[in-house]
Amino acid sequence: MKVIDAHAHLGRCRVFDLEVSAHELLAAMDINGIDAAIVMPFPGAPDPRKVHDDIAELAQAHPGRIYGMVNLSPHCDPDAYFKEAERCVRDLGFVGLKLHTIGHAINPLSQDAATVFETAKELGIPVMVHSGPGTPFALPSHLIPRAKDFPNVPIVIAHAGFTLYTGEAYVVARECPNVYLETSWLFPDDLRWLVRAVGAERIMMGTDLPRNVAPTLVVCEAAALTPEEKRWYLGATAARVFKIRF
Ligand SMILES: [Zn+2]
Repeated sequence: MKVIDAHAHLGRCRVFDLEVSAHELLAAMDINGIDAAIVMPFPGAPDPRKVHDDIAELAQAHPGRIYGMVNLSPHCDPDAYFKEAERCVRDLGFVGLKLHTIGHAINPLSQDAATVFETAKELGIPVMVHSGPGTPFALPSHLIPRAKDFPNVPIVIAHAGFTLYTGEAYVVARECPNVYLETSWLFPDDLRWLVRAVGAERIMMGTDLPRNVAPTLVVCEAAALTPEEKRWYLGATAARVFKIRF
């Protein structure tokens, strides 16, 4: 069984005042038995294109362990957004796009957000969307129209509503078969309920920050999932959605 962290960051964040080094990221993976991580710049990265290059370099140095996700503010010229996403996916092998509703102050229903979903459709990759803190943009329900308009684009709701809006994330997943839930920062009972109510093959583990890797695995243990549910949650769902082959 391969363990995949579907939500990790590298570099500096001016929005949330955070910084994660490659050493911290890899050490947290090694200590906690994480085989692979999907890594993206923070929304407050001073130079996201440079972080995309850093992630690609890290992936090359650690084959099969690091997969990139594009995280760029969509409040720019749509052609410039597409060009950088295309470079990351076609040249650097990135596996997804991030829409950061609070970090980039973007409403999923807006025109600039449409660029993100259209780019994902064109490049054949999933979109991960931040949910929870930062409402109303971060409300999971804003993704229902997008999921229905882009039925072939897998949409991963990061933080699955962040406990407060987890019921709403469940409603979205129930209404839209192309929606998946990443569960960083949830309580054990939220995780257990989502796995049982939505199905483990649509729920994936993510940690967000190196210091949250160990607590996330404790939450998984506390949720007392079956071995088959754990197999999906800890890696098989993310591998399928992001087309990661070991
Ligand atoms: Zn994050």
